[in-house]
Amino acid sequence: MAELRKPDERECERCGRTEVWDDDQDTWRVPDQDDATAIGDVHCVHEWDIDGSFRPIE
Ligand SMILES: [Zn+2]
Repeated sequence: MAELRKPDERECERCGRTEVWDDDQDTWRVPDQDDATAIGDVHCVHEWDIDGSFRPIE
């Protein structure tokens, strides 16, 4: 639980949405907005594969 590393990408285990961390904007964003499979399901309650060690404030 003492892990301090900050992940720079994450993927939803439910819909497959992928996001990368944008240091300039301090937010997650979809790397390729034109790729529907990367954006995933907008109605999905995303289940990120990195939860636990790092929680950005939204
Ligand atoms: Zn999702």
